[in-house]
Amino acid sequence: MIIQGTNASADVRERADVVIVGTGSGGGTLGAYLAERGWDVVMVERGGFFRAEDFSQREEDAMADFNGRRGLDTTVDNAVFLNYAQAVGGSTVHYWGDSFRPPPDRLERWRAEHGLDWMTPAELDPHFEAIETELGIHVTPETLLNENNRLVREGCEKLGIEGAKPPTARVDCLGCGWTQFGCPYNAKTSQLITTIPRVSTGGGRVYSDARVDVLHIEDGRATGVEGELTARDSGEVRARFRIDADVVVLAGGALGTAELLLRNIEDDTVGRRFYINPHYFVWADFGRRIDNVSGIPCAYVVHEYRQVRTDERGRYAGGGYIMLSNHQSPGITAAMLSSVGADHTDRMKRWHQLGSVMSVIDEEHPGRIFVGKDGIRRTEYNVEGVDQLKAVDYLKQASRIFLAAGAEEVWVPDVYGTIIRTERDIDEIGVRSVQPNAQFCAGSHLMGTAPLGTNPADSFAGPTGEAHRVRGLYVADGAALPGSVSVDPSLTIMGVARWIAAGIHERHGRAGG
Ligand SMILES: Cc1cc2nc3c(=O)[nH]c(=O)nc-3n(C[C@H](O)[C@H](O)[C@H](O)COP(=O)(O)OP(=O)(O)OC[C@H]3O[C@@H](n4cnc5c(N)ncnc54)[C@H](O)[C@@H]3O)c2cc1C
Repeated sequence: MIIQGTNASADVRERADVVIVGTGSGGGTLGAYLAERGWDVVMVERGGFFRAEDFSQREEDAMADFNGRRGLDTTVDNAVFLNYAQAVGGSTVHYWGDSFRPPPDRLERWRAEHGLDWMTPAELDPHFEAIETELGIHVTPETLLNENNRLVREGCEKLGIEGAKPPTARVDCLGCGWTQFGCPYNAKTSQLITTIPRVSTGGGRVYSDARVDVLHIEDGRATGVEGELTARDSGEVRARFRIDADVVVLAGGALGTAELLLRNIEDDTVGRRFYINPHYFVWADFGRRIDNVSGIPCAYVVHEYRQVRTDERGRYAGGGYIMLSNHQSPGITAAMLSSVGADHTDRMKRWHQLGSVMSVIDEEHPGRIFVGKDGIRRTEYNVEGVDQLKAVDYLKQASRIFLAAGAEEVWVPDVYGTIIRTERDIDEIGVRSVQPNAQFCAGSHLMGTAPLGTNPADSFAGPTGEAHRVRGLYVADGAALPGSVSVDPSLTIMGVARWIAAGIHERHGRAGG
């Protein structure tokens, strides 16, 4: 059953075997796993409940309906824009559906650095296989490549750069191109249409418009959550709810889980490592109409540079990112370009002839999340040190790829108006372009703020996902990952959440034993 808090007229109190805060990649996956094994599941979600018919294919509607802070969340210095959804289905309502398993070298690092011995392909692969089947994940078919995707591939092939079509989470996709604003055809297999119905039609209750603000902990054990049911449009409080449960799972995403913990528990491992995979965007004018909005946003990924290369003296020599072919709607594109006045108008008139890519930088310097003295949750994040060098390397390689594909101009959308027309111009790109606020930078892969690990001084939860210091309290979302995955993280989050769910089921038994 879906219970929409926006319609509430009285307080709610109920009991469940497990209560899950958040309904995205982590929460949805874990909830469906337990519900199908006989657990009485309650899920609480601060965002609204939207269906295919609510997705209007208008960017401003999506921003208002389910973008976190209405699409305007940034770090304290406004240098990094944070992109996530708040809705039943979490950020998967928004996401593009690229679905990678974590590279084995990254799992190896997490085993070595965080003691997560179970994070092996052998242990996780059965979970990935199950999720891939349930979500219909398959290699993007050729029919879903738009011209931008084909041009990125062409540039890579001409230069001998490694790339591939990504595995994608969709079934019978029409390629309308508006994935990011909610799929109006129920073809993108978000949690909204996959795991959530498996909970809500199997006896579980999913509350929307229900923001948890209190964690109940008694004698070192989590016993439930409490919060407000709010009107979707005005935010007015309609009623309060309290859910008591034997097991409490936090899956509010790296921001939501950290914020809730920071408000309820004294634990300085929370919020101090905030990974976002910085996204920088390069635009390329091909001087002719190219269709970059049909198909799916990212049907071609450049993998060549995922790993960092060093020179003989161990100094950074390139790499440390992947590149996604990218499309952005007109309003968002306008906000991303740093130009102003007539120049901006001229650039936007050329929107229909632009190709684009974005970076997923595998950062070494995470940011942090904290709650200010005024009670507002804030974030700090600086692209610094070697991460700046990775960003510059990406801007250069992206420019090369677009020039090879035949672009007339490549725009590095910095405040200096850098335009690349020839290979020689590429040398002009330097770190000044990636200083804070020198160009639009975003993060939509939010991770690491309540991480798993064996060392309680360095991790919030142990390897099983259970908090080191609170029994019966689990974390199972992007916050739980110990670092950046180096590729898009949703499938990793789902696989880890499913593994944690299997452990909860085994240890606590049905009905929370
Ligand atoms: C535009 C966009 C495109 C993306 N594309 C891709 C992609 O192609 N491939 C990929 O792998 N990843 C992609 N991602 C990232 C991916 O969607 C996220 O990494 C992933 O969904 C995070 O999962 P999660 O469970 O940590 O959190 P989320 O999926 O964000 O879910 C957390 C949920 O918890 C809720 N919540 C938070 N706090 C509370 C509270 N106190 N009370 C109640 N509810 C709460 C939130 O409202 C939210 O709905 C994309 C993200 C965006 C924004």
